[in-house]
Amino acid sequence: ATLPYDDDNVFAKILRGEIPSDKVYEDEWAYAFNDIAPQAPTHVLVIPKGKYVSWDDFSARASDAEIGGFVRAVGKIAREAGLVEPGYRLLANVGADSGQEVPHLHVHIFAGRPLGRMVA
Ligand code: 5GP
Repeated sequence: ATLPYDDDNVFAKILRGEIPSDKVYEDEWAYAFNDIAPQAPTHVLVIPKGKYVSWDDFSARASDAEIGGFVRAVGKIAREAGLVEPGYRLLANVGADSGQEVPHLHVHIFAGRPLGRMVA
């Protein structure tokens, strides 16, 4: 079962502007900012504006408009950053075994170097 959404999670605070973030993109559905501990030359986090704990929660509860808006935003951010030709990787951790740390859905965009094979 998905945990209830915690309004005090760090990404909720970033969305409310209570914690600063290095904004990359924003629209009606999504907010994107640079990861504080980048694991690649480009490491952007994209979060929906709605209150969803994870990809599981989002895919189950979000409206088609929210899902469409968010997915298009992720693609647009990568496209407008010029990442399509060199290539990039998307990743979303869900739950304990994934190591998900922040309980507000976030999609990682990694790019800027050859990313190698996924090991898991
Ligand atoms: P997860 O492990 O939950 O998939 O990813 C959480 C990500 O959020 C990590 O890559 C971590 O570096 C990043 N992060 C955690 N706290 C903050 C913060 O306060 N600001 C920013 N910009 N990134 C954060």
